[in-house]
Amino acid sequence: MPIATINPATGETEATYDAHDDAEVDARIGEAADAFRALANTDFTARGEWMHRAADLLDAEVDELALVLTTEMGKPLAQAAAEVRKSANAMRYYADHAEDMLAGRALDDPSVVGAGAAYTRYEPLGVVLAVMPWNYPIWQVIRFAAPALMAGNTVLLKHASNVPQSALYLGSLFSRAGFPVGALHTLLIPAARVEAVLRDRRVVAATLTGSEPAGRSLAAIAGSEVKHVVLELGGSDPFIVMPSADLDEAVRTAVTSRTSNNGQACINAKRFIVHEDVHDAFVERFTAAMAALRVGDPLDESTDIGPLATASGRDELAGLVDDAVALGAVAATGGTAGDGPGWFYPPTVLTGVDTGMRLYREEAFGPVATVFTARDADDALRIANDTTFGLSSAVWTRDEAEQERFIRGLDAGAVFVNGMSISYPELPFGGVKDSGIGRELSAEGIREFVNLKSVWRG
Ligand code: NAP
Repeated sequence: MPIATINPATGETEATYDAHDDAEVDARIGEAADAFRALANTDFTARGEWMHRAADLLDAEVDELALVLTTEMGKPLAQAAAEVRKSANAMRYYADHAEDMLAGRALDDPSVVGAGAAYTRYEPLGVVLAVMPWNYPIWQVIRFAAPALMAGNTVLLKHASNVPQSALYLGSLFSRAGFPVGALHTLLIPAARVEAVLRDRRVVAATLTGSEPAGRSLAAIAGSEVKHVVLELGGSDPFIVMPSADLDEAVRTAVTSRTSNNGQACINAKRFIVHEDVHDAFVERFTAAMAALRVGDPLDESTDIGPLATASGRDELAGLVDDAVALGAVAATGGTAGDGPGWFYPPTVLTGVDTGMRLYREEAFGPVATVFTARDADDALRIANDTTFGLSSAVWTRDEAEQERFIRGLDAGAVFVNGMSISYPELPFGGVKDSGIGRELSAEGIREFVNLKSVWRG
């Protein structure tokens, strides 16, 4: 894939970039290592001030940056601006809370280990490689980088090849705000050159947000180097609707949860599992609401859904739907990719998807919803958990006992009851099964890339 901004609404190449050569990559790794030595010797107050300044820069530059995001990956402009503001808020959250989150603990009675004093402390690890996706070009990076930098680590960012302008913006943001040069360096390299960077002895750990194959590959290399890794991979989140649910609210939320970010979020609800008593009413209202969404130019304020980010992503999604329909699934709305410039795909609702279809097992990365019927709560749980993914989940029921049952029974990193999956700085985020390893956000996120040092004093 070229390193280039290709506008998904038009298919036109707007800017291309040469990859950094080996000498440039080597120099940047060296600068990140130097910056680590400098940053590790600063305190939380200094880092917090720089982080606040970086957040203020994001807020001040929100309009220009949102335009870059929309041009590079096609999300509606208002959603791009919201992503930038959300990122700034997460930066302030870590600026204000990192010190408390990384406070060590002392044994009340150190004599049990034969010491005069015994305690723990969290220390930064070093240079961490971050391999990031295009779907939230700023947020995905910030939710890792803000805690990593506040902990005293430095970051090498290998961003997706189709968002180079976002990557370059992030590469200068933190040094503009006062962090040492190299605290967050961008590497303009293709995926094939990630391995050499990860094997470099100056790089001590890695995180990847992206697809499962990319995660498996990175983790295998990190494993062979005995380097810590966090993986945030795909999801095919269930959205369960039981008879006691507020159906209007559930339908409204289902539409947003399936189509936000043009349907290209890891925690978009993708599989709608509806109790048979309310199935037909849900499908009717959900289909009508999905069909009413406006697909078009992401710069136009009235647009709900812009294009998919890449031609290959659009073709992959169309292939999944075509396979399902050929094998007997029914498109209640949508189901056919438009022609003409841009990589648009209509909001689509499919019923009759079964285990023989690729769509049953694979993630639909675009505005395609599959609706299943469940006989009862057990059946809903069985369908929900019949997936290799386990990122997030949502359940709609006003019955408290049923809520408890779903909270316990769903194999996922999160359960949202009568709401939709969203990431918050205050709540840990991550998956089980093939959706990933480790957690981002909250205190758990900042503690992923630290050395938890035990101290014993005689
Ligand atoms: P992708 O192809 O895996 O790309 C993500 C990043 O990994 C890009 O920087 C890409 O570089 C790089 N990459 C690809 N193959 C690699 C390899 N073998 N070794 C090292 N790096 C590699 O992901 P995508 O398909 O564009 O993004 C969508 C996926 O990300 C979906 O599955 C989605 O669910 C997942 N996602 C998960 C989360 C989460 O938090 N769990 C959040 C967002 C997205 P190039 O661009 O140069 O190929």
